[in-house]
Amino acid sequence: MRRPKIDVDAVSSEVSKELVERLGLDYYGLSPDDIKDIVADIVQGIAASRSTKPSNESILKNILRNKDSLLKAVAAMLLDRGPPYTVEQLELIISYAPELAGRAAPLLYHEARRLGAEHIVEALRDLWRRYGRPTPIQCPRCGFHAVTPELTCMVCGASLSEEEVKRAVGFRRLLESFARRSSPQLVLEVIRAGYVVLDDEVKPPSLKKPGEFGVQLFLSREEKELLRSLLASQERA
Ligand SMILES: [Zn+2]
Repeated sequence: MRRPKIDVDAVSSEVSKELVERLGLDYYGLSPDDIKDIVADIVQGIAASRSTKPSNESILKNILRNKDSLLKAVAAMLLDRGPPYTVEQLELIISYAPELAGRAAPLLYHEARRLGAEHIVEALRDLWRRYGRPTPIQCPRCGFHAVTPELTCMVCGASLSEEEVKRAVGFRRLLESFARRSSPQLVLEVIRAGYVVLDDEVKPPSLKKPGEFGVQLFLSREEKELLRSLLASQERA
């Protein structure tokens, strides 16, 4: 097939101008120059699939029919470019590239906070859980499930104390439920070791499999006392 010759650069400039106007992209702070590279790729693709030279109008119509994929490419371009963003740009990224937004949640979270855009933070929490690298432990500072075994938060960057994590997860309740459902041997193991492993629940160190997520939490004197008294009441029962 003979490829029609078109001046990709000139056509892309023209089509980009039209697109910014028709799609109201200036609302997102975007100029024709911002989208020209994306448009050039599409123009080349369209030209390569036709045996006759496509008119600017037919290229424009084709792109407008696939408006969502254009906006998705624009969202990915904004992510590549990096901050600072506007609230409208963050909204565009979240709506049209949710998977990328979920993976980029740590970066976008700081931008959303800087802009005071709580609705963006909320959307990101959900996208992080779906497409990011969520952990079983929710950060008490930012609310993302992003606390690592080293007790730092992958999203807001906080370094947490064991105390703070214990309060956030309701540790005492988890410890009690562990003691009630476990054999006395396992409870004794925890008292002797002086620490537990936490994922969505409390486990004794021996039940953590290598490579599995788990936060080590050391027990206070009161927490060991609690385990001893639960153990004693089980023995009486
Ligand atoms: Zn956090």
